[in-house]
Amino acid sequence: MRALVVDDSRAMRRIVARILTGIGYDVEAGDGQQALDVLARGPKPHLACIDWNMPVMDGLSLVVRVRENPQWRDITLMMVTTESEHSQIVRALAAGAHEYLIKPFTSDSLREKLDLLGLVPAPTGEVAS
Ligand SMILES: [Mg+2]
Repeated sequence: MRALVVDDSRAMRRIVARILTGIGYDVEAGDGQQALDVLARGPKPHLACIDWNMPVMDGLSLVVRVRENPQWRDITLMMVTTESEHSQIVRALAAGAHEYLIKPFTSDSLREKLDLLGLVPAPTGEVAS
């Protein structure tokens, strides 16, 4: 499975990417604008973890852009952000995000969210059908 990690902080991209790689994902990472380039180029990720506060293109705008494109409809979008206001969570979910993870988070809490979404890949060696 493929994941796209979107954050303007390289350190945060590295942290999220490391967790996802540990779970078994192939990970690409970038900021909001780079994410659109990655999506346009493909291959399409199954999951995108998206920071909210980013210069150039913020996470909410990115969610809206992804949801506008029918080809990207099946990508699961998870906001990963310090924005913890209920109203912000509602906005993100209304815009088309599936899940919401508040920073700071643990690798277990990220894994738990993915589990709920049915997005924990089978361990390497197992045949996925
Ligand atoms: Mg940020």
